[in-house]
Amino acid sequence: MTYGGIEGGGSTFECIVGTGPGDVTASTTVPTAAPDETLSEVAGFFAAHDIDALGVATFGPLDLDPASSTHGHVLATPKAAWSGTDVVGTLAAAVGVPVAIDTDVNGAAIGEGRWGAAQGLDTFIYVTVGTGIGGGGLVNGKPMHGLMHPEIGHVRIPRHPEDDFPGNCRYHGDCLEGLAAGPAIADRWQRPADDLGEHAEAARVLEAFYLGVTMANLTLTISPQRIIIGGGVLAMPGLLEATRAAMLDTLAGYVEVASDGDASGYLVAPWLGSRSGVLGALVLAGA
Ligand code: ZN
Repeated sequence: MTYGGIEGGGSTFECIVGTGPGDVTASTTVPTAAPDETLSEVAGFFAAHDIDALGVATFGPLDLDPASSTHGHVLATPKAAWSGTDVVGTLAAAVGVPVAIDTDVNGAAIGEGRWGAAQGLDTFIYVTVGTGIGGGGLVNGKPMHGLMHPEIGHVRIPRHPEDDFPGNCRYHGDCLEGLAAGPAIADRWQRPADDLGEHAEAARVLEAFYLGVTMANLTLTISPQRIIIGGGVLAMPGLLEATRAAMLDTLAGYVEVASDGDASGYLVAPWLGSRSGVLGALVLAGA
């Protein structure tokens, strides 16, 4: 059996053919444009390879209710052209194979569970901090869905006392994403988030505070065995370590997550790097 995997993101759709990280036999990158255009190009790639099933891990929000008449459709999204797009139906018809779908972050969690930092665990969370903030994961071995799926990026958190940036989430203003995603960092200091100059230290302090509080909240609500945190913002030097420290400060010893002293085994970087999601899509397909 050979599988196709897709990670759908705001700027590109990453597509691979194979059975796992050591066996990727073809890959391509398709720009995220109008849905018809992008899905047609993606379907063309997979139609040229002999795959048995296709998995999609994509941005949403998505209708993941198997009983729904719009299962596999994108729901109302800020990427307005994609609202209502039937991703599963379109790809299944065009490629002629079964198509499974989940969120990009659940896909990444599934990939890390199979081949990465969460192997052997049944309850864990994957959080990505980049142009947006998202989180997914498995609870008791199953991807978190429920009412819809978690939207961890939009939780409300206490403000850092020295932060007067109002936040830039179009729905909530100063939710987590509005305060701590890449665009919030850039807006706050009016500089590119990866070139903050004299503001780099202040940015790391704020990021670590906001992310650390969130990691503590996830620990208290979900009780994960491990949290994996990735995304472009985590490339900020020292941020992962500072986030662990802020998480431990917030927990104040109430939950033991640092039997290793600094939680370096609890709050970890993804082992699969930027490939967690697209590899997780292979698992969704059946790999
Ligand atoms: Zn929000």
